Amino acid sequence: MSAPNHYRVLPVDPAGHRFEVTLTIPDPDPAGQRLRLPAWIPGSYMIRDFSKHLVEVVATCDDTPVGLRKMDSHTWLAEACDGPLVVRAVVYAWDPSVRKAHLDQTHGFFNGTSLFLEVVGQGDRACTLQLDPPRDPACQDWRVATTLPRVDGEPWGFGTFRAEDHDALVDHPVEMGTFDLVSFEARGIPHHLAVTGRHSGDLDRVARDLTAVCEAHLDHFGEPYPIDRYLFLLTVTGEGRGGLEHRASTALVAPRDQLPRPGERGISDGYRDLLALCSHEYFHTWNVKRIKPAVFAPYDLSRPGHTEQLWAFEGVTVYFEGVGLRRAGLLDLDGWLKHLGEDATRVQRTAGRHVQTVAQSSFDAWTKLYQADEDAPNQIVSYYTKGALVALALDLTMRRASEEQASLDTLWRALWDRYGDGSGVPEGAIEALASELAGVDLRGFFQQALHDTADLPLAELLEPVGLRMGLRPATGDDDKGGTPPGDTPDAAPAHLGVTVASAPLGARLRHVHRGGPAHAAGLSAGDVIVAMDGLRVRGKDLTKRVRTLAPGTVVRIHAFRDDVLRTVDARLAPAPQDTVWFAVDPDAPPEAVARRQRWLDGVVR
Ligand code: ZN
Repeated sequence: MSAPNHYRVLPVDPAGHRFEVTLTIPDPDPAGQRLRLPAWIPGSYMIRDFSKHLVEVVATCDDTPVGLRKMDSHTWLAEACDGPLVVRAVVYAWDPSVRKAHLDQTHGFFNGTSLFLEVVGQGDRACTLQLDPPRDPACQDWRVATTLPRVDGEPWGFGTFRAEDHDALVDHPVEMGTFDLVSFEARGIPHHLAVTGRHSGDLDRVARDLTAVCEAHLDHFGEPYPIDRYLFLLTVTGEGRGGLEHRASTALVAPRDQLPRPGERGISDGYRDLLALCSHEYFHTWNVKRIKPAVFAPYDLSRPGHTEQLWAFEGVTVYFEGVGLRRAGLLDLDGWLKHLGEDATRVQRTAGRHVQTVAQSSFDAWTKLYQADEDAPNQIVSYYTKGALVALALDLTMRRASEEQASLDTLWRALWDRYGDGSGVPEGAIEALASELAGVDLRGFFQQALHDTADLPLAELLEPVGLRMGLRPATGDDDKGGTPPGDTPDAAPAHLGVTVASAPLGARLRHVHRGGPAHAAGLSAGDVIVAMDGLRVRGKDLTKRVRTLAPGTVVRIHAFRDDVLRTVDARLAPAPQDTVWFAVDPDAPPEAVARRQRWLDGVVR
């Protein structure tokens, strides 16, 4: 067998955010070797053209320059040569998200999709990765965290790693720097949490809580487990948030104040968000990394892959992120209902739920959800949040239809049995399997849930398990929903139908809700409101001012569009019932309470 393709990464210029990547190909295509960088990264459904960050690509053979011709945006063709072909690229890495690459004198992070040219025709071939330490003296104490199997070097040190093929090479992100590291075991499997960025969080507590979350998900699918190691790569920042799933790790960005402080008791909303993010990405280890839409088996990273199934891979994952926290004992029933209620509120506040179906939202993720603009709330629905509600409805529907012999739990375990090998779930297969398990034709349910824009009958589905659902107006800009009216301050009676952000001059309109007072008055997203009724507006106090007024009140608004000041009159409308809450029904009959308990315990008969 011939030598593997070998990649060497040097953080050549941390201050200038540049990695140098050298690829040595022992057996290039004798007819000329094509090389290709992905256009997107699995889990984030948007064409990103990572090749735009390659600032230099040169090829040599025996130290002699070899011609390289650009074939399209992300493909190069190297002239034929006999010996090993060496391709050197410089990659500009200054992206703060979990999707690309980042390098400065404090740390480096990369996804292989940003750095590693694929040797076209040799994608199945094993490769090695040599990670060299930066020479910059500011980066002397750096270590390395990745789940790529190590060939040489000290644990957590620079050295050489291997990957069985190019897919694996780009599915193990790499962190380098002076991260904090805590290790724990979940069901005997070594897990690690590497935290980058300034913080004063209690990482031992995080490790304890994550152990419970990971074990809840491991127990859900059972043995044999799909992983023999797992790594949470967390970067804490001022206010960023995001996560991306990988086969044995996840890359996360979260606000540093979401970490629990030493001695802190209880679970703050911020810490709950962080645990939910971890729970979500960990569940993806099964759901989307292994059980995946057929169109991603295998991934074609050169063009979009369209599927109507993202409700099942993201929405169901959102649902199980909360279920996992509850099963781990980190959320009680009320806390879980609040978490669900927040998702339901996001859907309820999106008029686009009556325009786009969740199947369309999934199919058009590439051009709609991932490229959401100022009018998105009027046009689209998220397959994350609506998908989570479909999951809730499907769980309750399957339990009811099958007399508690089947549930979302059993459906996802069956999907794991059938498709956990990564062979890919054909479009429509989840619906068919759900009907098969429930012993009832569920086509009507899926037609309504996936291919229709009517609201799901959640209240009706929750009643038999002794839960109530209600709607109320929002109490302010910070009201995310999920809590019943008695637990919250008084709701505002009137609204203007806008979402605002602070701007230097006043309040900038982020979204204008179709059919609302601002729309009727001719205001638009992007307009900056500087005064209402002759009084200056500062940032978010617009909402507070509107709160004091009654529906029907006409307000005079001064707003800039570009540099032109406009004056309009808007008639305030009654605040919409756009905030959802779920709660235990104190009057539920005993059989409903018992049914609820079996549901929460995951009991099937
Ligand atoms: Zn996800």
